[in-house]
Amino acid sequence: MTIMKPLFLPQQLRFLNALHARKELSSGQLHHLQSMKKGADGEIRWTTLLNELPDDIPILYDLNLEINQTVFQIDALCILQNKMVIFEIKNYRGNYSIVDNQWFSPTKKEMKDPLLQIKRNETLIHQFLKKHQLPIPFDYHLIFVHPEFVLYGATPNQNVIFPGQIPAFLDTFKNQTISPTGLHTKVIDTLLTNHKSKLTMLVKPEYDYEELAKGVFCNGCCGRMMRISKKSFKCTHCSQIIVLKKVVLEMIKQYKLLFPQRKIKKSTIYDWCGKEISGDSILRVLQQNYTEKGKSRGVYYE
Ligand SMILES: [Zn+2]
Repeated sequence: MTIMKPLFLPQQLRFLNALHARKELSSGQLHHLQSMKKGADGEIRWTTLLNELPDDIPILYDLNLEINQTVFQIDALCILQNKMVIFEIKNYRGNYSIVDNQWFSPTKKEMKDPLLQIKRNETLIHQFLKKHQLPIPFDYHLIFVHPEFVLYGATPNQNVIFPGQIPAFLDTFKNQTISPTGLHTKVIDTLLTNHKSKLTMLVKPEYDYEELAKGVFCNGCCGRMMRISKKSFKCTHCSQIIVLKKVVLEMIKQYKLLFPQRKIKKSTIYDWCGKEISGDSILRVLQQNYTEKGKSRGVYYE
């Protein structure tokens, strides 16, 4: 049994990235984007580490769940024979400290105690499991994944895993075997069907189609991409090379994310890509990956 929800960057991050490539963001929006990126980097680091676990341990990432009108997020969880193990991932870097139970950032700013967030989530998860009749116990760990993280004044706490402790911590999972039961399946199904992926923006920036830059942009760093051969593009900023087909798919995704109400047509994507990709290439990708709707001149893709 391997049920693995692929890691995706939180939708908000993808949304802001797509917009950032084509429009100047305000400093507040930029700050928001950067802090989300930092979090996503941490989750990617953790995903790479969890990939070393035996294949039959189900791992779920990035769940947004709701109980009693309260939404809570789970960064990652894995399901063992008799329990779930839930991970809260922090990608903090630098010298943090705790003085009289108050957390301080490397710049000595007061900050929220991440353990309080875990306590709150624990209560919500208990309620969620009870409501859905899932009698499975769980452990909850706070994982600091950045190798350059230091926390002064910390008292030992088995729920907190520091960067240097990660290898030994993961070793304890490596000899786990799991024989799937009905409860395992029910737990996974319930978590996935209740996962809310809706894009909920706190402040949705204003933009319209005309003001956005048209062209091909890198999904990693937002840099402009240039065609380097018949079938590939290269980012002028981070130098990653992407094949034409993937570029077109990515540009369609960005368009859908920014303009969810609009219909996707060959001509729209042609314009969106700054007329840098031929209509034929776009059409081929649309026909292979989307469903054709409408007739003759009104043809669009879903
Ligand atoms: Zn790039």
